Amino acid sequence: MIYSHEELLGHTRLPLTIAEIILFIIIIYLLLAVGGKWRIWLGALLLVYWIVLVAGKFWPPPKVAVPKSPLATKIAVREDPTTANFVWSSEYRVGFWWHFFPAKKYFLIYNRALEEKILTQDDFIIPAHLGDQDLALVHSRGYLLRLYLLAFTPMGFINGENPISWYILKKLKVACGGTYLACKIALEQGIGMNLGGGFHHAFAGHEEGFCHLNDMAVAIRKLQVERFIDRAMVIDCDVHQGNGTAAIFQGDDTVFTFSIHQDDLYPYQKAYSNYDISLPGSMRVDDENYLEQLKVLPDLIKKHRPDLVIYLAGADPFKEDRLGGFLLTKQGLMDRDAYVLRLCADRGIPVAVVLGGGYAPNINDTVEIHLNTVRMVNRLLN
Ligand SMILES: [Zn+2]
Repeated sequence: MIYSHEELLGHTRLPLTIAEIILFIIIIYLLLAVGGKWRIWLGALLLVYWIVLVAGKFWPPPKVAVPKSPLATKIAVREDPTTANFVWSSEYRVGFWWHFFPAKKYFLIYNRALEEKILTQDDFIIPAHLGDQDLALVHSRGYLLRLYLLAFTPMGFINGENPISWYILKKLKVACGGTYLACKIALEQGIGMNLGGGFHHAFAGHEEGFCHLNDMAVAIRKLQVERFIDRAMVIDCDVHQGNGTAAIFQGDDTVFTFSIHQDDLYPYQKAYSNYDISLPGSMRVDDENYLEQLKVLPDLIKKHRPDLVIYLAGADPFKEDRLGGFLLTKQGLMDRDAYVLRLCADRGIPVAVVLGGGYAPNINDTVEIHLNTVRMVNRLLN
């Protein structure tokens, strides 16, 4: 069953985090309570900090003019051409040890890919981080300032489900660089894969769902501005809707967003992708149902004619995932990967693959699912 957008709406999200509300109460106390001058000064300082922090979320998104003139070249020639198709950085594994997101999976994937001889060192290329100018193609300046403030102050540690530190911010910038590099490899060689990225809940002006910077949106915008591509398509196969990506590209006819996800699941207030397949958990979506739903893709690709596809190979439609209610097996997820990748390859459309989700009780299952995606990419390459 496919739900309409009206049926999907209904839940709202608090514009402030609990930490921001508590900080505001503390500020009011400091400003109003009887006491020494230091209270007033501290209260005023914290108030300025609080206003900048909160205003960042309400900053308007940047207006970027995407060149409409013919492309200078459709081939992305890099300064350091390589035959490596897989992008990975040791910085990807940085994460808070207590956080639900399994950041250590990035290191395990890399290790196992080498140990099991699925890939060699020569198959990997290390990305550079993207700078603020690149991030500002998608994210508002006010929001980037908010991220820096959070990253450099203790508020970053208690920022709801999206804690951030200086090291995490650095890692996220590298992840954006990784997805951008995977896209360029795809444009050169047909297929590229970032063993990271996929932060599809990040909006232009705020963080959500363990995502702060939308690596896919930044990569697409940067490639458009550099005139490597005109049109792009995001095929989001995570069990959660790619709400950030959908919102960023809403009303932009150069980027087509597709998302297949569980309906009765975060994000409860769905965004509008160009094409949403929102399936209720009660439908007990298995391998067969899921693959059947994907059969709309050939028509969508034909209509939109993308110069580049970014495929988010989410690991959380897996039947044992703690955050999802789909019932896909590892084989089903592998068939999904093969289907999407083959679809692009047969039409000569470059495809960049990014990872997503993965909250199985046993992290090795998540790692195995991502490795299977690597295997499918490899199969296409050979
Ligand atoms: Zn997810």
